[in-house]
Amino acid sequence: MKKFGVLGFPVKHSLSPKMYNAAFKFLNAEAFYEFCEVELGDLNCFMKRVKTGEYAGLSVTVPYKEKVIEYCDEVSDDAKKIGAVNCLYFKDGKLIGENTDWIGFREALCEVENDFTGKKVLVCGAGGAARACLYSLNRLGVTPYVTNRTYSKVLELGDEFDLIPIEGRLLEDSLFDIIINATALGLELDDNLVVDESVLKKSKLVFDLIYLDTPLVKLAKKLAIPTVDAKKMLLYQAAVQFKFFTGANAPIEVMWSSIIKS
Ligand code: NAP
Repeated sequence: MKKFGVLGFPVKHSLSPKMYNAAFKFLNAEAFYEFCEVELGDLNCFMKRVKTGEYAGLSVTVPYKEKVIEYCDEVSDDAKKIGAVNCLYFKDGKLIGENTDWIGFREALCEVENDFTGKKVLVCGAGGAARACLYSLNRLGVTPYVTNRTYSKVLELGDEFDLIPIEGRLLEDSLFDIIINATALGLELDDNLVVDESVLKKSKLVFDLIYLDTPLVKLAKKLAIPTVDAKKMLLYQAAVQFKFFTGANAPIEVMWSSIIKS
């Protein structure tokens, strides 16, 4: 029986086990996928077990997407440029680090909007998820505006990605066609909006990467502004990982059905 899992801390909220186990069951695969909730102090020990082949593959989430890089024998160019690994698998006995978030982001966004000509795109955030968004947007030919609570991080990102930095206080006077929330703001029900309502009202599409009904998504829906479903990003990045893990095409519909009502 092959073993897979999602490495993170905390991780018990993750929908990944549901998705992968539904896929394995559908394909009658001799495999299962589990939560790997590992505290920082135990990461080294856990990764040693990974290197011995205990897991055939792992998804990696917060806070380990950068930390696992040092354990990889090889890291893909995409993951190197993004600076984060969200997928570990073995190829010819080597532990490979990949990043599939940027593909999941692109597929989910382009399902709703794929013409960016003349459109102003705002990315909020400067962490790992924002880096995957920027990588993806740049490859789509988009130079987004980027803002973040810690503004200095936006300026640093400007050395690696094509972007236009914008400070929070200047947002109010601007119009953005597409607003992307790649921050952790919105995880709590009483969190503030990542942009003011006045900015949101002027937009035409909202993509909050957090796959919950966040305050931003709720308000966008109330204002009849179309939204991108963040679960689609989760689904599409997982589908690419599934191929790395098993060599087989992911049964997307089965995986989608397993998380749609969660
Ligand atoms: P990260 O590297 O820890 O970065 C966190 C970002 O959120 C930073 O820009 C940080 O700003 C900002 N932030 C945190 N708390 C904030 C607050 N109270 N107010 C304003 N900004 C705040 O995390 P990450 O990996 O980028 O993940 C960000 C979010 O993306 C997570 O919530 C995750 O759920 C989501 N995500 C979703 C998917 C998907 O498949 N749908 C995939 C990946 C990530 P500072 O720089 O100022 O600290």
